[in-house]
Amino acid sequence: MLAFFPSLKLPMSATDFSSLNLPAEQLAVLDSLGYKQMTAVQAQSLPLILQGKDVIAQAKTGSGKTAAFGIGLLQNIQPDFFAVQALIICPTRELADQVGKELRRLGRGIPNLKLVMLCGGKPLGPQIASLEYGAHIVVGTPGRIQDHLKKSTLKLNKVKTVVLDEADRMLDMGFVDAMQEIIGQTPSSRQTLLFSATFPDGIKQISRTIQREPTRITVESQH
Ligand code: ADP
Ligand code: MG
Repeated sequence: MLAFFPSLKLPMSATDFSSLNLPAEQLAVLDSLGYKQMTAVQAQSLPLILQGKDVIAQAKTGSGKTAAFGIGLLQNIQPDFFAVQALIICPTRELADQVGKELRRLGRGIPNLKLVMLCGGKPLGPQIASLEYGAHIVVGTPGRIQDHLKKSTLKLNKVKTVVLDEADRMLDMGFVDAMQEIIGQTPSSRQTLLFSATFPDGIKQISRTIQREPTRITVESQH
């Protein structure tokens, strides 16, 4: 019935993705994924992320953190520029794989988007070949990212967005120095986003060394 009375459409709510200033292609992709309303962490962080601000966000597993940083970083990708423009560091291969899959889905509207996974336990050869061909986005685990930096098969000097995903787990796994070293290779003008399920002192310290006036967001409930 609503189709006959377009004026009766429900008013747009502040948590609709369409309330963000996103390109029509991105909104269409979100629609095709069935993402209508932003989750709490997305509604709180995305407006800031889209403004280029550093954000430190604490939210439980399953709250939609990947799309929060993913939608943000995708808006800064120039597909005709073949350099790594976004780097997402994850604690484990399994988590990196999940992030990679979600970013590929979210980035479907960007023609020729190239995302390369750099995780340990996989042969180096194909990773090196993919990097040589040119990648816009790298998702990986700290050890393997460092391996590529040492070999100079990965350059991070054009990175615009760095994401530390599940930062508390990386802390627990002893990746603090690795994270700092990797981030040290990116431009200081970058945007740095830190996502974590908990907020221990170690996270505050890392944030202080790698982020610039970050806005802190805490989401207690699931959505
Ligand atoms: P987290 O990283 O916080 O654990 P994920 O980013 O993995 O959470 O997202 C959890 C699930 O929620 C995924 O299956 C994802 O596809 C889905 N999801 C994320 N954002 C939305 C949204 N706005 N609407 C519907 N589903 C969403
Ligand atoms: Mg996650």
